[in-house]
Amino acid sequence: MERYGRIETKRKREIVLLRGRGCAYRKCAFCDYHLDCSSDEKQNYRLNADVLSRVTGEFSDLEVINSGSVFELDSSTLFEIKRVCREKGIRTIHFEAHYMYKNRIRELRREFCDFELKMKLGLETFDYDIREDYLKKGIPERNPAVIAKDFDEANFLFGIKGQSAQSMLRDIELGLDNFERICVNIMCENSTSIMPDKEVIAEFMQSVYPEYKDDFRVDILINNTDFGVGD
Ligand code: SF4
Repeated sequence: MERYGRIETKRKREIVLLRGRGCAYRKCAFCDYHLDCSSDEKQNYRLNADVLSRVTGEFSDLEVINSGSVFELDSSTLFEIKRVCREKGIRTIHFEAHYMYKNRIRELRREFCDFELKMKLGLETFDYDIREDYLKKGIPERNPAVIAKDFDEANFLFGIKGQSAQSMLRDIELGLDNFERICVNIMCENSTSIMPDKEVIAEFMQSVYPEYKDDFRVDILINNTDFGVGD
């Protein structure tokens, strides 16, 4: 699996896919990437340090993902992230976290106070029924401003049953009103029972993609390896 990539469009940054002890939530119906985990923290650290050794700092901006939340990385890996970012002159670090960790984000920002931290939420959609009844995302809140309060960025998942051009456009507009940047992921077939909906994806490509493909604040991943990491 590729664990290091460079994102050279829009907000340029390096990206690393690290390994943690595993997602503590694990209930999102569309997700199987939480399988990338190990309970052996020493081995995780060795692997993560090796991946981090490839970071050059060329964009002063690093995105760190770990098939779960940053709070599931071991403390030696967190220390190594800080050390590498200081050494390479990186000013901005992006981390991901599930909504259930929102009350720990302030403490993480303090811990990384030498850096500008951008916290990314896996939101998937503002549509409560799709998000909670179908995707089982575990975000028991409807108010967009309250959802976004502790986060700077958000992931959205498009191309699934129940969505339409109108609902996807609404998600993007609300996303841009409430977050600094958003990332749209198109559903790809995986080992879960949630399947990509070809008609919804066609609607996205026809009516949504042309509107936002050049928007600096919107990353769009048609394939889930478009950032250069994963498999
Ligand atoms: S989407 Fe994220 S929070 Fe949900 S199960 Fe997968 S890794 Fe865990």
